Amino acid sequence: MSWPLTIASLMRWAERHAPDSTIAAVDDDTSEVRRSTYRAAFERVHRLANALRRAGVRAGDRVATVAWNTQPHFELYYAVSCLGAVLHTVNPRLEASQLEYVIRHGGAEIVFVDPLARDLLDRLQPLFPAVRQWITLGRAAAPRWATYEDFIQGHAAEAAWPALDEGAAAALCYTSGTTGEPKGVLYTHRSTVLHALISQSANAMAFTRDDVVLPVVPMYHVMAWGTPYSAVMAGATLVLPGHRAGHAAFLADLIDSAGVTVALGVPTVWLGVLQHLRESGRRLKTLRRVIVGGAACPPALMDALAVEAGITVQHAWGMTELSPLGTFNRNAPGGAASATGKPYSQGQAVFGVELRVVDGDGRERAFDGHAQGRLQVRGPAVCAGYFQSDDRSSFHEGWFDTGDVATIGADGHMRITDRAKDVIKSGGEWISSVELENVASRHPAVLQAAAIAVPNDKWGERPWVVVVRKDGAAVSEQEIRHWFVGKVAHWAEPDRVVFAAALPLTATGKVSKRALRDQYGTALAPDGASHG
Ligand code: ADP
Repeated sequence: MSWPLTIASLMRWAERHAPDSTIAAVDDDTSEVRRSTYRAAFERVHRLANALRRAGVRAGDRVATVAWNTQPHFELYYAVSCLGAVLHTVNPRLEASQLEYVIRHGGAEIVFVDPLARDLLDRLQPLFPAVRQWITLGRAAAPRWATYEDFIQGHAAEAAWPALDEGAAAALCYTSGTTGEPKGVLYTHRSTVLHALISQSANAMAFTRDDVVLPVVPMYHVMAWGTPYSAVMAGATLVLPGHRAGHAAFLADLIDSAGVTVALGVPTVWLGVLQHLRESGRRLKTLRRVIVGGAACPPALMDALAVEAGITVQHAWGMTELSPLGTFNRNAPGGAASATGKPYSQGQAVFGVELRVVDGDGRERAFDGHAQGRLQVRGPAVCAGYFQSDDRSSFHEGWFDTGDVATIGADGHMRITDRAKDVIKSGGEWISSVELENVASRHPAVLQAAAIAVPNDKWGERPWVVVVRKDGAAVSEQEIRHWFVGKVAHWAEPDRVVFAAALPLTATGKVSKRALRDQYGTALAPDGASHG
């Protein structure tokens, strides 16, 4: 049969076959966890869809959200896309100029805003003459703002969904644009449903009805890695942490009170949770599994979570342009597996993602675990171009160039060596910042480390490592520099190790190498550093 893969088909399934599954959402006003069923949540989705229709939203229109992981945001995910409109999720942590750029570029005429971001948007409102309606997701009304509850109030809990083509656009998300302007990635119904099926498969995220799934990854960042779709596809309990997901103690309390079994987020989140567990001496009662990705997860962190907290850590790699999942590692660290080194790689491609690495001339390199090159991908949930952009620089003969440098083993295990823009190019040698960070993180006094390229007259660039020490740990620059001897090639040993109280983070919670380069990059590097 020709059966369109649409988000409405997913919702219909869940309404019929998992109506009593739970959504547990933190209410940002009270910090309480409010529980409702899929049935009740989807009823509100119907009301919202009717309200959107009444407000003039038509197929193809963009509707923007500037919001954290909350139940209204979940409702917007389904109502907007199932109407045939496009949900444009905007990161509330962007700087004002980027926020302005992405909202304007996305072209939404209705914008839903979390109360925490309302003041900022209130100031920016005059910049968006095209926006007809501003709706706050909070309860308190304000001039020029309608409240979400008023917006859906009185609309029927039964919407007539249009028959959509599976190739219709469903959602729009911008990459953070570490270089140049942010770029929009448009997901279709088909790519969204396929991505949910793929990421949900047994060798990947493998959620079941018994799982309680907590996306710490925000719903404005690559659709929270697809969890609002994949958890629903599994009939799992979905836990939405509101805006405080970055606070480790809050997160630990939520994990315990909601009975979370599997949680997803970037490495910095789990580093914070680990520190909290160490300081408080507590253990998380129900959390069995953490899926970590979005940036390279240091092996030391994976080991510590496994050994100290008894949590299975699975490493995944992906990108906004891939919906986002590309590879997934089923081998969790701890026990014998760690000795093979396998748990630390970014894992194997999931079905639906083809990988290759190419050299500087675009020639494919061997899957031998050594030959490194630029990583390229293709598949049904990989974007074919950027939204309303003629930038084709990442697209080559049907492949998308990820901007990552990687090796792939004969068994398909992929390792990210670096982002091309973070590789340290020293006298013709490429030094992997990830490798330096992994080595530094293994030092008992080191909590977190970031390696960056610092300009150098003689070598072009030389590595520096910025280190955050564990609380109370006393260690000198010399000691850490010595730690590298014999662990990396002589010429890759860092010229300097500098200490910081914390590392700067990007709007998506990853360590910002750009901010570190800005801070240290202009420092006068010692000339003539040893180089082999
Ligand atoms: P941005 O961080 O630029 O906003 P994305 O969230 O799409 O955009 O990030 C994708 C990038 O994050 C990848 O190209 C890769 O460099 C990095 N990344 C994601 N997961 C991993 C991982 N497990 N290991 C190493 N790098 C990763």
